Amino acid sequence: MNVILLGPPGAGKGTQARKIVDEFDFDYISTGDMLRKEVESASRLGKIAKSYMNKGDLVPDSYIVEMIVDNLGELNARNLIDGFPRNISQAEALNEKLTENQQKIAVVLHMNVDDEELINRLSTRAVCILCQAPFKLKSPDENLIVKCNNSPNKDCIIKVRDDDNPKSVARRITVYKNETFPIVKYYKDLNVNLVDIDARGTEDEIFQEISKFIVV
Ligand code: ADP
Repeated sequence: MNVILLGPPGAGKGTQARKIVDEFDFDYISTGDMLRKEVESASRLGKIAKSYMNKGDLVPDSYIVEMIVDNLGELNARNLIDGFPRNISQAEALNEKLTENQQKIAVVLHMNVDDEELINRLSTRAVCILCQAPFKLKSPDENLIVKCNNSPNKDCIIKVRDDDNPKSVARRITVYKNETFPIVKYYKDLNVNLVDIDARGTEDEIFQEISKFIVV
């Protein structure tokens, strides 16, 4: 069963993913997290990806498709895919892979939030650099690097993400609108089960809504 999380940066995909994985026992595949690990380990891909990510641009498809398709090689029974596909050609590559594996997309959860709220959320967000758990800052200027007590991993360190600065956030929202949002129509035309989720409420409200569409 493949569930896809689609939505602009700051929509809360990572937050909801954590809840879905805990409640419904999915394998979580996040291209953003995978790329951040590559950057952290200064691998060849990490060095290439870093400049694109920091600017808020997409990492070129050739790298992404290779990275994700490798991971989907031994497709598990229940996958929650976050951050992929991010443009039509990635959506086509995913379709190809799923068809090869005789698998389908069970549901695309399309999370909607207005730009003002996205910018507000991203300008006051820090994340654990190891487990990616989000933390709310009191103000956009507060830059804290402290031990993370909220996370199951007590050794986490929380930090503002390099791409959560105003310029990169603006770019990520534009890239989402131009390159990623057209996937909604693409899936609708293919009769893929795509549901619109109002992602402005509390984490628990949104999770309640999402849970209705995850058939177990
Ligand atoms: P967000 O949804 O908050 O922007 P992610 O953690 O999903 O954050 O992604 C962070 C960055 O990683 C993106 O801005 C982009 O540079 C890169 N990235 C992640 N997934 C992809 C993808 N499927 N294709 C290209 N670039 C990607």
